[in-house]
Amino acid sequence: MNANFLQTPITYLKGVGPNRAQLFQSELGIGTYQDLINFFPNRYIDKTKYYTIGELERSSADVQIKGKIIHLKTVEQKKGSRLVATFVDDTGEMELVWFRMQKWIRDNLKLNTPYVIYGKTNWFNGKFSMPHPEMELLTEHESGLKIAMQPVYPSTEKLSNKGVTNRVVNKLMQQLFLETKGQFQESLSPALINELKLISKSDALYNIHFPKNQALLAKAQFRLKFEELFYIQIQLITKKLLRKKKIKGFPFEHVGSYFNEFYKDHLPFELTSAQKRAIKEIRADLGSNAQMNRLLQGDVGSGKTIVALMSILLALDNGYQTCLMAPTEILANQHYNSLIELVRNMGINIALLTGSVKKKARNIIHEQLENGELHLLIGTHAVLEDKVQFKNLGLAIIDEQHRFGVAQRSRLWHKNEIPPHILVMTATPIPRTLAMSLYGDLDISVIDELPPGRKSVKTVHRLDANRLKVFRFIKDEIKKGRQIYVVYPLIQESEALDYKDLMDGYESIVRDFPLPEYQISIVHGKMKSEDKDYEMGRFQRGETQIMIATTVIEVGVNIPNASVMIIESAERFGLSQLHQLRGRVGRGADQSYCILMTGLKLSSEAKERLATMTSTNDGFEIAEVDLRLRGPGDLMGTQQSGLLNLKIADIVRDNDILKTARYYASRILKEDPGLSQPANSKLLATYQQLVRHKNIWTYIS
Ligand code: ADP
Ligand code: MG
Repeated sequence: MNANFLQTPITYLKGVGPNRAQLFQSELGIGTYQDLINFFPNRYIDKTKYYTIGELERSSADVQIKGKIIHLKTVEQKKGSRLVATFVDDTGEMELVWFRMQKWIRDNLKLNTPYVIYGKTNWFNGKFSMPHPEMELLTEHESGLKIAMQPVYPSTEKLSNKGVTNRVVNKLMQQLFLETKGQFQESLSPALINELKLISKSDALYNIHFPKNQALLAKAQFRLKFEELFYIQIQLITKKLLRKKKIKGFPFEHVGSYFNEFYKDHLPFELTSAQKRAIKEIRADLGSNAQMNRLLQGDVGSGKTIVALMSILLALDNGYQTCLMAPTEILANQHYNSLIELVRNMGINIALLTGSVKKKARNIIHEQLENGELHLLIGTHAVLEDKVQFKNLGLAIIDEQHRFGVAQRSRLWHKNEIPPHILVMTATPIPRTLAMSLYGDLDISVIDELPPGRKSVKTVHRLDANRLKVFRFIKDEIKKGRQIYVVYPLIQESEALDYKDLMDGYESIVRDFPLPEYQISIVHGKMKSEDKDYEMGRFQRGETQIMIATTVIEVGVNIPNASVMIIESAERFGLSQLHQLRGRVGRGADQSYCILMTGLKLSSEAKERLATMTSTNDGFEIAEVDLRLRGPGDLMGTQQSGLLNLKIADIVRDNDILKTARYYASRILKEDPGLSQPANSKLLATYQQLVRHKNIWTYIS
């Protein structure tokens, strides 16, 4: 069937009028024959299995039973009436019930004649009953089309209210196959089909909608999932290749005195081999002619800062400026302080630009950036303002990128004619699977090793009822000179309530930890930023022993002397957030603890989150669980929700297929970057068509 035919609007399909077409468009986004073909069932009902009434269980879902009706009666009730049939087989009896269309059914049903019924059973008044069963005479059933598995299509409330039932969708699908004669253009190359032993496109589409048997259904699913993921990978890898070819970067050819001197004289510790590897990868990028676009992933505390610094020094050695952007003022401050400290006496000019920098100081910064006096600008979103212009920005580093939108990233790009090299640092461990699909067009470095001697944080789950014991533990730790975080959830929808929780918690802690023996800091979102900084400062300098806070301290804050993290209402936090919070402790030489406080009542998902936290410190393992529990859309925020538009594949469940798809996509593009060889003509044609009709998932970057 040729491709243009598939672009026919579905109004032309028999059985679809303007109203239905409108409904399909608004409810399911289906506008053309092609869209309808690619509307896949989300499950199948096994029609090969017959139940007997005797083997029904209260938990039985949809069942198919052979039997006959021996009795029919109308039962009057307060609101209208219902029609009740007694249905029996050799093993027992049950009821069939109708509330609608009673007359028609009464007139048409045959008593004492074998039927096959199908539907959902309820357990009611000590009996099984089935409301509005699908019914077919056994004789018709046996002579009819044998479908082993009946597809069930996704639906919406509006669709079922308007009478577009699963049966209707099924009928339309049949009609569509009739009109297209079930012939569809092959969309993968013969080589791929051979090598992977795939079934043809036509067979796959047929069996996904009308599976002949389990085995063919599985083959159809594999083929379609593979294809979907394959073309996404083709797109991502093509993008990456294009960028490397087209977008010239500044080549940082020299490794000069800044880099070497620092490495020789100022490096405060031996780099881990993971850090060395990351630096090597970055150096290779920076030294090439192409623009770097690299994601540096490393768990909290894995030492990303030093890797960033070495990159900054490379920029400097080649006469370029760097801009380092952090998502909060606290973090920008912290980067500023630690970098100043690390490069002391090296003659490097660093400035900090945040929202609270006064106009006069700001103007000086602007001037020094433009005349090149400043080597490194560290800041918050403030660095994105148009007024901020560089003499020669060669490298932009973004910390904790998940807090920045894609649009903001691209604003950094446009500060120069030639885009600076980009290094994005994230402590959110992104499972390989997801990284591969989301950032397929980025290069990735992973720091998968913590600096030596780091003790892993001991994590426990405690019930609110044991709070006094926890308080006693805190007192002991404070006696040893340690500092404590107590964190409360703050989630937008219930902000007022959360705020009250925080204040109540604060008061109860103040009661148990009285002045002057104990000094307490509090930081939350409602405070002015200078007050926050003041409180953070006191805690950082060790003037207060307890820091009560909302999640503002989530990312990056580095206070090595803090050794206990108490998380209140821990069940309300997501896994990655819990892990981030835990990362605030365990930064010094002492054993650190994370205590997850909850009430008694917990959902099973919350229990799994808590169990994961207490059983592992590995950010990647946690991310995998998080991904499984929440799904990719949630994990990455709405920004990347494009992922949810996958039609058949599932990033989590189809991990292996994704890997296969990626392997083949990169192998093919390596040999033939433009897909211009005759052997790949099918791939090129399909890809171009997908892009043209936007039937491909698009990643904005
Ligand atoms: P993150 O990856 O969370 O940004 P940082 O760069 O803040 O981690 O490093 C965390 C802490 O570990 C810092 O105090 C840093 O000085 C220290 N650190 C980093 N790398 C090493 C190393 N190779 N050996 C010892 N300590 C290190
Ligand atoms: Mg950091």
